[in-house]
Amino acid sequence: MKNFEYARARSVDGAIQLSTPGSRYLAGGIDLLGEMKEYIVSPKRVIDLKLIPDLGRIDTSSSTWKLGANVTIAEIAKSEPIRATLPGLAEAASEVGSPQIRNVATLGGNLAQHSRCWYYRHRDLHCLKRGGATCYAREGENKYHSLFSGNPCVSPVVSNLAVILAALDAKVSLRRGDKEVQLTVPELYSDAWGNPLAHNSLQPGDLIVHVEIPTPKNRSTYLQVSEKSDFDWALVSCAAAGRKTGDRWFEVSVFLGAVAPIPYRVESPLIERGELSSAAIGSISQSLASQATPLAHNGYKVPIAQALIRRALTRIVS
Ligand SMILES: Cc1cc2nc3c(=O)[nH]c(=O)nc-3n(C[C@H](O)[C@H](O)[C@H](O)COP(=O)(O)OP(=O)(O)OC[C@H]3O[C@@H](n4cnc5c(N)ncnc54)[C@H](O)[C@@H]3O)c2cc1C
Ligand code: SF4
Repeated sequence: MKNFEYARARSVDGAIQLSTPGSRYLAGGIDLLGEMKEYIVSPKRVIDLKLIPDLGRIDTSSSTWKLGANVTIAEIAKSEPIRATLPGLAEAASEVGSPQIRNVATLGGNLAQHSRCWYYRHRDLHCLKRGGATCYAREGENKYHSLFSGNPCVSPVVSNLAVILAALDAKVSLRRGDKEVQLTVPELYSDAWGNPLAHNSLQPGDLIVHVEIPTPKNRSTYLQVSEKSDFDWALVSCAAAGRKTGDRWFEVSVFLGAVAPIPYRVESPLIERGELSSAAIGSISQSLASQATPLAHNGYKVPIAQALIRRALTRIVS
């Protein structure tokens, strides 16, 4: 790890003022410190966000809930209101890493974490995402990589929370200099679809302040398949959410994780019309196969994604 300057922010304004070209925000440090130890990033200044009081709050006082960027993954997983009203969010949080990681890692850091591609994380390799000329995964070991990508980098988004927050139509509130900016979750990742250098759409110095989650969607779930039952990343994940009123479904959305550089929206006219009979669910999951472009070693993700779509939709309708 290279030497760096350490600064503590006591307010959102203070963090923005401390931000300089080449500085980085530090929340739980699970991702940032790992990258610094491997010389993947070497910030000149690290700005600790943990003492900013307002960022650690879960506010459920109105119909749109606000979760501060410093709320930990464990707090999300354990929160009774979240478990009761947004069960998919609690499920996604409880699948992150291990209890030790969940106790430290934060919502903001989880959304802004960088690629886990093993070539990107290798200190001696400079792949396309690190400014080099080649994507080593495309022709190399791509078992954990994307089925869909709009650019030569096939590293998938791995944040569990991004996938469920996309399905819940959450908005991410940022400070960009002195401006307040709100992005949908698809917007938060859209740059990573087309630009191999991007992990997300955050610009240098952007500070995630909180996430707003509307609560009218009264059904939600998150499922994932991993190689190990605990302490492991998703091979594929799936979040589904919608609003059920009487027998009718509204605003249904389904997103997949770990299959694209963005949370990948499963599109179907059946989903748009809220048709969720078991035949419709079967047809929605079948349609995915024709859209995916698997690499040499990740074709196994297609049937997993199809099974997860089926299971997630069946779970919210039952
Ligand atoms: C063994 C292991 C298993 C894991 N398994 C999973 C898993 O299954 N699912 C999953 O989703 N994740 C998993 N993770 C990743 C982990 O959840 C993330 O590394 C963690 O959530 C990052 O949060 P943090 O608070 O520690 O962020 P930090 O490491 O402090 O920061 C991460 C990045 O976000 C930036 N950042 C932090 N806060 C803000 C903010 N408020 N605004 C703007 N930028 C900010 C930092 O500058 C940095 O670039 C795993 C990690 C490990 C080590
Ligand atoms: S998938 Fe992306 S991060 Fe991985 S080697 Fe290719 S360019 Fe690098």
